[in-house]
Amino acid sequence: TQFNELGLAAPLLRALEEEGYTTPTPIQSQAIPAALSGRDVLGIAQTGTGKTAAFSLPILNHIANNPRRMPAGTCRVLILSPTRELASQIHESVRAYGRHIRPRTAIIFGGVPENPQKRAMSTGVDILIATPGRLMDLINQRAVRLDGIEVLVLDEADQMLDRGFWPQIRKLAGMLPKQRHTMFFSATMPDDIAKLAKELMPDPVRVEV
Ligand code: AMP
Repeated sequence: TQFNELGLAAPLLRALEEEGYTTPTPIQSQAIPAALSGRDVLGIAQTGTGKTAAFSLPILNHIANNPRRMPAGTCRVLILSPTRELASQIHESVRAYGRHIRPRTAIIFGGVPENPQKRAMSTGVDILIATPGRLMDLINQRAVRLDGIEVLVLDEADQMLDRGFWPQIRKLAGMLPKQRHTMFFSATMPDDIAKLAKELMPDPVRVEV
C-alpha cells in the first residue's frame, strides 16, 4: 500500500512526502482506512510502529474536510497521553503532518504554570493533547469543556493504567458526547485494559502489529 491509496487529502500527502515518509507502516495501512471510514480503532502497538501518524492523519483529514470554529474553552479532538514527553512528541507530529492544514492545537500537562494553557484554550482549538491530571484541573476551573468533542484518542493505555490514571480517564470519558469517534492504543492488552476499551468503544476494528 502507498499513502495515496489510503484516502488522505492532498495537503496531508504533501506533508508526508516532505517528512520523507514513502510507505505506510503496517499499523498505518490498517488503521487509517478503518478510521477514515468512521470505525473506532483498537490498536495494539508499541512506540516506534508509527501509531502517532496512524491516529493523527485521519484526525487531520477530518478537520481539513470539515472546518469549524470552536467556542472558547472547547476542542474537537482530545488526545490523552500518559506523560508530558509523549504529549509533546504527539504535538510535534500533529504540527508536522498538519503543516498545510494549519489546525489550531493546544497542549496541556502538569508541572508548569496553568495560565498559558488556559490562555491557549480561551479560543477554541481543533486538537487538544493532554495528560489526564492537569486536564482535570483545568476542567474543574471551567477553563476547558469536553462537550464539543468529536474524536477521542487514548494513547498508551497500559501506561495510563500503570500511572494510576484510570479513575480520571473514566471520569473524563463520562464528560464526552456518546456520539463520537474513538481510537484506543496500547502496547499490551491485559483484561483490565480490554475491559476499559469495551466501555469506550462498542464495536472497534482491532489492529495488531
Ligand atoms: P511513533 O511510533 O508514532 O512514535 O513513530 C515512530 C517514528 O517513526 C517517528 O520518528 C516517525 O516520524 C516515524 N514514522 C512514522 N511513520 C512513518 C512512515 N510511514 N515512514 C517513515 N517513518 C515513519
